[in-house]
Amino acid sequence: MNVEVKGFGIKSMKTRWGTCNIRTQHIWLNLDLAKKPIACLEFIVVHEMVHLLERNHTKRFYSLMDKFLPGWRTQKDILEKFPAGHREWEY
Ligand SMILES: [Zn+2]
Repeated sequence: MNVEVKGFGIKSMKTRWGTCNIRTQHIWLNLDLAKKPIACLEFIVVHEMVHLLERNHTKRFYSLMDKFLPGWRTQKDILEKFPAGHREWEY
């Protein structure tokens, strides 16, 4: 992907699977991902890393997702079919 993640952390978050601070190149991952299939973690990590290339969920963002993780839609489906509670998740 040719991006550099300077650091990452894991914490409980109520509404987000992951966040990316573009300025500091730091990613936070939701602790609840530990309860999901590993494919879900991969999807969120790649998603947050794509934010280092494209800040918003634009057409370009999704074409970068297709390029770096062609199966991401299936991985997203798996994540959303096994929700921890009924919330609107963001990532
Ligand atoms: Zn996002």
